[in-house]
Amino acid sequence: MTQFEPPRMGEPYLLTPGPLTTAYEVKEAMLRDWGSWDGDFRAMTASLRAQLLGLLGDAATEYDCVPLQGSGSYCVEAMLGSFVPKDGKVLVLANGAYGLRAAKTMDYLGRACHLLDKGDYLPPRGAEVAAILANDPAITHVLAIHCETSSGILNPVEEIAEATFAAGRKLLIDSMSAFGAVEIDVAKVPFQALVSSANKCIEGVPGFGFVLARKEEIAASKGNSHSLSLDIHAQWDYMEKSGQWRFTPPTHAVAAFLKALEMHAEEGGVKGRGARYTRNRDVMVAGMRALGFETLLEDRWLSPIIVTFFNPADPKFDFTRFYDLMKAQGFIIYPGKLTVVDSFRVGCIGRMDEHVMTRVVAAAKSALDTMGVASAAPPAAALEERKKLAA
Ligand SMILES: *Cc1c(COP(=O)(O)O)cnc(C)c1O
Repeated sequence: MTQFEPPRMGEPYLLTPGPLTTAYEVKEAMLRDWGSWDGDFRAMTASLRAQLLGLLGDAATEYDCVPLQGSGSYCVEAMLGSFVPKDGKVLVLANGAYGLRAAKTMDYLGRACHLLDKGDYLPPRGAEVAAILANDPAITHVLAIHCETSSGILNPVEEIAEATFAAGRKLLIDSMSAFGAVEIDVAKVPFQALVSSANKCIEGVPGFGFVLARKEEIAASKGNSHSLSLDIHAQWDYMEKSGQWRFTPPTHAVAAFLKALEMHAEEGGVKGRGARYTRNRDVMVAGMRALGFETLLEDRWLSPIIVTFFNPADPKFDFTRFYDLMKAQGFIIYPGKLTVVDSFRVGCIGRMDEHVMTRVVAAAKSALDTMGVASAAPPAAALEERKKLAA
């Protein structure tokens, strides 16, 4: 495989789950202005929608793609507000910050919500979903987080989908940090709607997100939305009629995204992208484990997106110092988001390959040496915490 060029002008690699390190060509695609109304830009919008649908494979004909200005959370809010009727009720499956944010969004919307909060990282399982749905006929929708980026866990969406459809309910998916790198089989997971954004696995720059939803569901969602700017039906209807976005589109981000989609296709689409991220993860995790670091999650739950490591027990370890030492060597890592034990995260996504990951591990070793940390082994309490996964 090609050795990826490092970011230019001394930029550090972003080992963060978005914004992330983008290709030079993607940045270069932004060096031109586009008129949002002009036919050239309308063709770009049409191409973007068609290419994203293409990533769904054969099922694409039943779905449509609606891009929307804003960050990923805007799209989550738009999806919940547009597809859940005002008298609907959502079972939100949370095991981290993004699930909790979705539940909070339901509060803002003033629509009914049942929150299953599994804590920092335990996966919501199909049987639990089935039991909750059997007990509460008012629930109309289930919201699943595909990869919960706050721990890096890849949630079991297939068994969640099975339980949801067996109970005759609809499935909404926040696949923000997974779409484009983790395959989703629409035959097994026939979701009503799914959201993702430009600056995650497709490796574009921030500025917009997109909803993939069943055509008949989009058509039926008219009048549900609480918000003018977040109304998926209105955005779709206008785009279908005019080829334009309703309000000022992020033209440069769209141009960059089209370049990113081209590079995604060249790499072999979802399979190719997923394979590179998986190698990134495997090389990085093996190297970090050799230094004594331990992952929060057992291998079966590790996503190829981002990995959480426990902070070492050694009192000489100081995360702020570690962060600065990593940055000085060209790598931006990510603080952890666990509530019980201290941790940090290393992303595997963005324009980088396993050779870069080998250097990440070498940088971590050098940082530990500088701090005088002999072993990166975590405290006993962290390993106790991890036992919960096996229970
Ligand atoms: C990135 C992300 C979001 C959206 O976050 P924004 O900061 O609004 O872009 C939502 N859900 C998940 C799982 C994410 O990884």
